[in-house]
Amino acid sequence: MTNIIYPTTNLLHTEQMVVSHGEGIYVYDKAGKQYLEGMAGLWCTSLGYGNKELIETSTQQMEKLTFSHMFGGKTHQPGMDLADKLAEMVPVTDAKIFFGNSGSDANDTHIKLLRYYFNAIGQPQKQKIITRERAYHGVTVAAGSLTSLPANLQHFDAPLDALGILRTDHPHYFSGHLPGESEAEFVTRITDNLEQLIIREGADTIAAFIAEPITGASGVIVPPEGYYQKVQEVLNRHGILFWTDEVITGFGRTGNDFGCTTMGIEKPDMMTFAKQLSSAYFPISASVIRGDIYEAMREQSNNVGVFGHGYTYSGHPVGCAIALKTMEIYQRDNIFSQAADTGAYLQQKLATLRQHPMVAEVRGKGLIAAVELCADAAASKNTKLGELTNIAAANCQANGLILRPVAGNSIAICPPLIITTAQIDELVDKLTLSLNQL
Ligand code: PMP
Repeated sequence: MTNIIYPTTNLLHTEQMVVSHGEGIYVYDKAGKQYLEGMAGLWCTSLGYGNKELIETSTQQMEKLTFSHMFGGKTHQPGMDLADKLAEMVPVTDAKIFFGNSGSDANDTHIKLLRYYFNAIGQPQKQKIITRERAYHGVTVAAGSLTSLPANLQHFDAPLDALGILRTDHPHYFSGHLPGESEAEFVTRITDNLEQLIIREGADTIAAFIAEPITGASGVIVPPEGYYQKVQEVLNRHGILFWTDEVITGFGRTGNDFGCTTMGIEKPDMMTFAKQLSSAYFPISASVIRGDIYEAMREQSNNVGVFGHGYTYSGHPVGCAIALKTMEIYQRDNIFSQAADTGAYLQQKLATLRQHPMVAEVRGKGLIAAVELCADAAASKNTKLGELTNIAAANCQANGLILRPVAGNSIAICPPLIITTAQIDELVDKLTLSLNQL
C-alpha cells in the first residue's frame, strides 16, 4: 500500500504496476519487464518516451527561465511563438489562444470565455451548452459536468445545475440504432433530436455544442458518414457555436492534423487541446477561439476592467518551449502523414479481429481504435461484459502490451504516433493472443 489516492481507479484495487522507465514506444516495470505502450500513456505520448530533443529543450528552457506568468500582459518568447504557431496550424478563423495545464481546465476556460463573450455582446442569457451522451470532457467540476460517463457524474452530485448543460444523442450507430434503421436514418433521427432540443430550450439560451470529433474514453466512437455535416447545418440554422474538443484527436491522431479535418467539420469556432500538444513532456493545454470572439471580449474589458480568469501556470515557459519543439518535430519529420500511413495499416490489421468470437465491433481512424467485446461471449462465460473487458486488458498486460479497458465494454488502442508497422504487428499479435486466452 502507498499513501496515494489513485485517480480513476476502483479504490479497492490494491494491485499496482510500478512503471520504472520508458524508451521509444516501450515502458518497463520495476522488474525490468518490457511493455509496448499501446495507449501512449493516456492518449498523449505521441513522440514516445525519452525523446532527446524534447529533453534538451526542456533543460535549456529550465536553465534560461524556469518560470514566468502571463498575468497583466507579461509574456515570453516561447509563449508568443507557440501561440503564433498554433494560430497558423488550426482551422479556427483568426485564432486566439489561452494556455492552461490540462484538458479539463482548458474546457473550463472555454465555458468561462463563452459567458464572458455573450455578456460582452449583450446576450447574457445565451449560456447553456449542449454535450452528448457518452462524452468525456474532463473531470473538474465544470468540465466534469460536460462529461456524460456515469462514473464521472454519479457520487459527485454532478452535473452542476447552474451550468445549464443539455445532453443529446451519441452518434454510435452500432449501439444506438433502432431495429432495421439504416445509418442514414439514424443520423437523420439523432440530428432531428438535436434540433428539437434546441427549439424546446430556445436557441437564444444556448451558447455552444461541444463534441470530440471521435470520442476516446467512451470507446472510440466514429460517427457515421454525414453526421457532422447535419450537425453543422442545425447549429448554423440556430446560431450556436461549434466547439471541438481535440484533447485526444488533435495533432495527427486520426490520420490528419486534427480530428475535425478527418470528420469533415469545417472551421470550428472553438477548439481544446492538451496531451499531444507537448507529447506529454509537460502539462499544457490550449483553449482556442475565433478572433472576433476575442475582439468582443476586449470590448467588454473596456467596460468591466480585468478579464478575471487565469492559472498560475497559464503559459508556463517550459511547457510552451516543449510544445513549440513538439510542433517543430511534427512538421519537420512529417509525423502526421507517417501516422496516417501506419494508422491505415493498424485499421487494416485490426479488421481481421471482426471475425473473432469474443469481438462485437472494431472501430477507429488513423492511430486510434477500439475493440468492443461481445455480450454473448460474456454470457457464455457467466460473467459481466465489463469484467470480461478488464480481463482482456489484464491478459494484454501479462503479454507485454498496455491497452486500456474503456466505457462501452471496449479495449482502446492509441499507440504513440511514432509506432512502426513492425511494432503494429507486435501490438495486434499480442492483442489477438490475449483475446484467444479469454
Ligand atoms: N477532453 C477529452 C476529449 C479527453 O479525452 C480528456 C482526457 N482524457 C480531457 C478532455 C481531460 O483532459 P485532462 O485529463 O488533461 O484534464
